Amino acid sequence: MIKPILKFLPFLIVLALLPLMLPAGRLGAYYLTLLILTASYAVAALGLTVLLGYSGQISLAQAAFFGIGAYTFAILGVHDGVPFWLAAIAAVAVAAVFGLVLGMISLRLASHYLALVTIGFQIITQLVLANWHALTGGPDGISNIPRPSLFGFALQTDEQFYWVSLAVLALAAYVVYRLRNSRLGGALLALREDEIAAAAYGISVFRTKVMAFSIAAALGGLGGVLYASGSLYISPDVFSFYQSVSFFAMVLVGGRESIVGTILGSGLVTFLPEVLRFLQSYTVAVYGLLIVVVVLFLPNGLYGALADGVGFLRSRRTAGAAPAEQLAATIATTAPRPVATSETLLEIKDLTKRFGGVTAVNGLNLTVCKGDVAVLIGPNGSGKTTVLNVLSGIYAANGGGIVFRGGTITNASPNQVHAAGISRTFQNIRLFPELTALENVVVGYFSKGTVGLAGTLLSVPRGYREEREAVAKARETLGALGFSRFDVRAKHLPYGQQRIVEIARAIVAGPTLLLLDEPAAGMNHEETAALSSILYRIHELGLTMLLIEHDMSFVASVATRAYVMDFGQKISEGSVQSVLADPAVIKAYLGDDVEYA
Ligand code: ADP
Ligand code: MG
Repeated sequence: MIKPILKFLPFLIVLALLPLMLPAGRLGAYYLTLLILTASYAVAALGLTVLLGYSGQISLAQAAFFGIGAYTFAILGVHDGVPFWLAAIAAVAVAAVFGLVLGMISLRLASHYLALVTIGFQIITQLVLANWHALTGGPDGISNIPRPSLFGFALQTDEQFYWVSLAVLALAAYVVYRLRNSRLGGALLALREDEIAAAAYGISVFRTKVMAFSIAAALGGLGGVLYASGSLYISPDVFSFYQSVSFFAMVLVGGRESIVGTILGSGLVTFLPEVLRFLQSYTVAVYGLLIVVVVLFLPNGLYGALADGVGFLRSRRTAGAAPAEQLAATIATTAPRPVATSETLLEIKDLTKRFGGVTAVNGLNLTVCKGDVAVLIGPNGSGKTTVLNVLSGIYAANGGGIVFRGGTITNASPNQVHAAGISRTFQNIRLFPELTALENVVVGYFSKGTVGLAGTLLSVPRGYREEREAVAKARETLGALGFSRFDVRAKHLPYGQQRIVEIARAIVAGPTLLLLDEPAAGMNHEETAALSSILYRIHELGLTMLLIEHDMSFVASVATRAYVMDFGQKISEGSVQSVLADPAVIKAYLGDDVEYA
C-alpha cells in the first residue's frame, strides 16, 4: 500500500510545487492555465495508457470521450443545476458506457479496422456536439461552467483549481498504477503480448478488451470534466480528431506503458506549441517534427529514455544464467517411478480434425488416467500438436468428442478448457515476451480467478492480498523448478529457461492435467536431463500429464503409457517398451531421423 505511493511521491511533489516556481504576474497566470490544461489532458491520456499501453489496442477516439465527459458535465451542471460532484460522476459514467458500447461493437475487428471505427466515432461525436443545438448549444458551446467546492470551501480561483486537478490526476494515476499489478492488468498485458496464449490461460480476450476500452473512456470523460471546469467554457472544436491524435502523441512520446511518462508527455505536447509560438506559421510543422523525432528515436518514450539513463548510471547487476547441471541438482532426482491409476481422467473418442483437404487427426481414441504420464509419439506432421490444439479449444473438432473428469469439453473455448483444469505449454514457446519471468507466471496464477475489477479497485486490501499471493506463489513455483532470474524479461532468457518459465506458468495455478508439446525440443543434453527431473517433480506433486515427444530416449524414462500416431491415426499403444518394439511403429519411423531408445 505504501510502496506505490512512495514511488509517486517525489513526482507529485514536483507537480504540486510547479506553480510556486513560476514567475508571478500575468506570465504566472498564463502558465497556471496551461498546467490545469495539462492535468486534464493527462487524465484522458492515462486512459490511453491503459488501452494502448497495457492492452495494445488502438483508439483514435479519446477526444470524443473527453468531449462526452465535458459536455455531460456541463449540460448537467449548467442547464440542470446538478451539484458539481454528482454531475462529474455522471459524466464519467456516461463516457464509460459509450466506451463499453463502442468496444462491444468494434473490438472483434482487426486492429486497423478498429482504428478506422474509432476515427468514425470521433468524427460523428464532434458533428453531434456541433449540431445538436438544443442540447449542446451548437458551435457556440456552453459557458459559465461551475467549479467545485469541498466541505463548504469554494475552490474557484485558478490556483485552487490547480490543486483540485492535481488531486484528480493523482487519483487517476493511482488507479492506472493499481490496474497494472492487478489480475485485470495482467490479463491486458498478456493479451497485448499473445492473444492465443492469453486465451489458453483462462483470459476472456473479448471481455478483457471491452473492459480496457471502457476504463479508457471513463478516464477520458474524467479528463473532460476537469477540462470543462478548468476552462469554464467548452465548444465542439476542442474535441476534434486532431485532439485525439494529440492524446495518442502524449502517450507515445511519454512511453506508452509508463504513467509518469504519460504525464510528462501530456506536459510536453501541451507546452511545446506555446513555447514554439515565436515560430509563427511554422509552429505546427516544427512541433510535428519534434514529436516524430521523439517517437522514432526513443521507442520507449521520454520516460523509457530517462529510466535507461538511470539504469545505465547505476552499476548494472548481471544475474548469471543458472547452468543446467546446477538446475538439475536443485531438483530431487531420486523421485519414485510414477504410478498410474485406472481412474479415467481424459477420454478422447473418435476425434477428427481436418484442415481443408488434410485430415490432421483421423478418428483418434485415447485415454489418460489419473496419475499417468501419457506420451504421444509420432513422426513430424502426424497430427500430435493438432490433438493438443483441439483439446485445449484452439481449434474446433470436425467429429468425435472429448470428456474430461466426466464432463464433455468438446469444442469448449480455451478459457473454458482452462477453467476445467487443463493447462498447456506450446511447441514454439508462447511466453509473453515483454513481461518478466515472474510476471509471466503471475498471469498463470491469476488464471485461477477470484477477485474481479471491482475487487481490485474498490476493495484495495483484497486486491493487494491477491497480488501478494500471486507473486509469492509464482516465486515459489519458479524456485521449485530451480529458476531464479525472476525479473528478466522473457524474451531475454535462453531457450531452455524459457521452457521452464512456460512450465511454471502452466502449473502455478494447480491444474489437474498438464499438456506439454515437445518440451525437450531445442534443448541441449544437460537441459534435457534437467527437464526430466522437473517432470518427475511435477508428477510427484500430483499432476497428470499428456506430453508430446519426438525424442524417444527422453520419453522412455518418464512415460507410464504411450500412444503412437501416424497420418492422424493411432497405430500403437501400450508401455513405451512395447510400442517401440511394435513393427507398425518401426515401419512408421523407418527412414526418419529419430533416434531409438
Ligand atoms: P505434429 O505435431 O505431429 O508434427 P501437426 O499436428 O502440427 O503435426 O500437423 C498435422 C498436419 O496438420 C500437418 O499436415 C499440418 O500441416 C496440418 N496442420 C496443422 N495445423 C494446421 C493449420 N492451422 N492449418 C492447416 N494445416 C495444419
Ligand atoms: Mg507438433
